[in-house]
This record gives sequence, structure tokens and C-alpha cells, in this order.
Amino acid sequence: MKHVVIIGAGPAGLMAAEAALAGGARVDIFDAMPSAGRKFLMAGKSGLNITHSEDEAVFRTRYDAPDARLAAMVEAFGPSEIVKWMAGLGIAAHVGSSGRVFPIGMKASPLLRRWLARLGEAGAVLHTRHRWTGWDARGALTFETLTGQASVKPDASVLALGGASWKRLGSDGAWANLLTERGVALEPFAPSNCGFLVPWSAKMAAHEGAPVKGVSLSAHGQSVRGDFVITRSGIESGAVYPLAAALRRDIAASGRASLTIDLLPDTDEAALAARLAAAHPKDSLSNRLRKAARIDGAKAALLLEVTKGAPPRAAADLARLIKALPLTLTGTAPIDTAISTAGGVPWDALDEGLMLKVLPHVYCAGEMIAWDAPTGGYLLTACLATGRVAGQAAAHSP
Ligand SMILES: Cc1cc2nc3c(=O)[nH]c(=O)nc-3n(C[C@H](O)[C@H](O)[C@H](O)COP(=O)(O)OP(=O)(O)OC[C@H]3O[C@@H](n4cnc5c(N)ncnc54)[C@H](O)[C@@H]3O)c2cc1C
Repeated sequence: MKHVVIIGAGPAGLMAAEAALAGGARVDIFDAMPSAGRKFLMAGKSGLNITHSEDEAVFRTRYDAPDARLAAMVEAFGPSEIVKWMAGLGIAAHVGSSGRVFPIGMKASPLLRRWLARLGEAGAVLHTRHRWTGWDARGALTFETLTGQASVKPDASVLALGGASWKRLGSDGAWANLLTERGVALEPFAPSNCGFLVPWSAKMAAHEGAPVKGVSLSAHGQSVRGDFVITRSGIESGAVYPLAAALRRDIAASGRASLTIDLLPDTDEAALAARLAAAHPKDSLSNRLRKAARIDGAKAALLLEVTKGAPPRAAADLARLIKALPLTLTGTAPIDTAISTAGGVPWDALDEGLMLKVLPHVYCAGEMIAWDAPTGGYLLTACLATGRVAGQAAAHSP
């Protein structure tokens, strides 16, 4: 019986544990935090969007990975397999109106609880408060624990250490140094599904936390319908995330990125101009916007911000601006606040079973591998799919 050690008790690591157990291995799981799956639980706070119900061929095109292997892994363990897997844990799937798939009840905690219980019953042992610190001279894995150093020399190990955001939940990216020292040339981390900086005036920043609902955001010829949120230093959430990778690249190249906001995507520009023109001449601008265009609150503030407090008076010009409000983004929000991170272990450093070519018997899984995807369930699906491959391969490590 092979002994497989999994480091990282997030969704990728737990799926690797499940696959290694199914492959007949004895499994120990180590995590630096006092409990498992902290980011997974956080993801469930606003509804655990675990996968997506769209056509699976379309689903696979959502990934930005310079390698066809990720698509094959997601084909082998994708949306329909995840729904069946959840059912195996007694958790039915709920498909939202957008096609996003959630566990019934939306939360991660019942799923995680049952998953950990099933792993325990199958023989996996979870060791919390064990921070992996590298390898010793014998090639054993070393850990910092509350009672001092520990080491273990398994037949194979799976690293499922996450990306480099939300450090307080465990994924601090500190593993990057440990792999670099061993000759793995990593791709630098970059924030993905992240917020962006806009140098707001104090008036605009006072709208911090306000949702801007039912808009369409465009950049690079791609438009996304949805909502976003004003932050103290810019924008984040929902409709911003699908555009984040392209906006991030613009910022890396030129220090800024342009976003166009259609504040009323369901209203035709000419009809809007006619409604604005028909407003009472004595109406203030804010009344005109509210009555003729139902624009107030954060939407009205955005219009004032972009025009430095002087939106055009002419109805046709105002309508044009409402339909295509230009916003300049000057940076990405700090990486620690990103939903996920791009970069990490490059695909060409990994073999077919996700084993590091320069470190035999050491496999990788989850967000620490260099792939990128928008929100919509794609992140967790890839974590589970890669965890499964790494766990299976580790159980049969040569
Ligand atoms: C607010 C929020 C909402 C999200 N919502 C969604 C969503 O709805 N849908 C979706 O698909 N994705 C969502 N995500 C992203 C998703 O949660 C992550 O992509 C996913 O958790 C990554 O899984 P992972 O197993 O690769 O890594 P992680 O979940 O980050 O787990 C890594 C584990 O490794 C441990 N670790 C790290 N370093 C060490 C070390 N040196 N020693 C020991 N242990 C270590 C950490 O403690 C952690 O437990 C969300 C993320 C956030 C922050």
C-alpha cells in the first residue's frame, strides 16, 4: 500500500485525498490552518458556485491555460461529474437562473462536513496546524507544528497549496520559495477575478459598498451584463471579474485600462434621448436623470464623477454618455483581495499525472497551477478536476 501525503486541505487537496484513497493508498492530509477548507467555506458565504450548467464544450473554453491537459481533466471530471459527486455526499444541486450550479442551501459547510467525514471513514487522517516547510536532507517532508518540527517520508505527495490571495484563510503563496529553491521556474502570481483601482474623488469614494445594478461593462470587444460594487478605491465584483484578465494585461502593459459602462443596457439610446428631452425644463439634472432614466444613487454619482460634475445638458449627448460611460482603471486592487490568482506552477513543469518533472513523486493540484478562469464555478471545477488527477497518479506513483 502506497503512503500518499496531501499538503493543503482545500478542495483540490481533499479531492486528491479521495482519489488517492480510491487508488488504494494510505492517506495523510496536512494543513497549516487550525481547520480544513477555510477558503472553500468563505466561497460558500455568498453562495458556493461549484460549477456551471452550460454546454460542457463551451464550459471548457472558459479556461485560460496554455495547455490542452486542463480541458481534458475538466472533461473527465466536469459539471455533470461534480453534480453526481455532490449527490454521493447527499447534497443535491441547485441551478441558478444564470446557469450557475450551487449545492442546495448554497453553503459550503454541509458539503465540507460530509466530505471530511467520508474521507475520515475511508481512512484519511487530517493533521491541522502543520505548516509544510520543505524537505530535509533525507528527502522527507518537514512541517512546523505547535510542538516543534515534524517530518514524514511518504511514497508520494500532492501539493495543493492554493494561490496567493486571502492569506488569512491559509493560501499565502509562501510555497513559491520552496519550489523555486528546488528548481521549479514559477510564473509570477497575478490577481485574477480582482477589483480595480479608480482614483475616485472623495464624493465618489463615499459610495463605498454601493452596488451598481443591471449594467453592461465592455472592454476589448467583450461585454458582460450584471452588477458591480463601488469600493473606496475603485470597483469590484460580479460583472468586473469576467473582464479582469484582459484589464489586468492592459494595466501591466500600459499602466491603465479602459472600461465602458452602459448604465441602461435595456434602453435604446434614441428612446432615452427622447425621454430626457421631454423632461420638464425646470427639473434639476438629478430629477431629470431619476424621472426620465431612473438613474440615481451610485449610477448618478458615476455620471457626475466621470464628467467632473458637469454632465452634458443636451439630451442626445447625455443619452450617449449614459449608454457608454468611459472609466479609466489605473491598477489592480491588492492581490490579497482577489478571488483567485493566476500564475504559479507552469504546465511544462508537470507531467501527465501533474507530477513535478524535477521532483519525482511530488504532484501539484488546484489553484497553485498556472491556469486562470473567471468566476462562475470554473475555479472550483478545475481545482477538483486537477486534484482528482494528482491523487490518482500519486496513488500509483512509480
Ligand atoms: C471570497 C471568495 C469567494 C469565492 N467564490 C468562489 C465560487 O463561488 N466558485 C468558485 O469556483 N471559486 C470561488 N472562489 C475561489 C476558490 O475558493 C478557490 O479557487 C479554491 O478554494 C482553490 O482551491 P485550492 O484547493 O487550490 O486551494 P485553497 O482552497 O486555497 O487551499 C489551499 C490550502 O493549503 C493550505 N496551505 C497553504 N500553504 C501551506 C503550507 N505551507 N503548509 C500547509 N498547508 C498550507 C492552506 O491553509 C489551504 O487550506 C472564491 C474565493 C474567495 C476568496
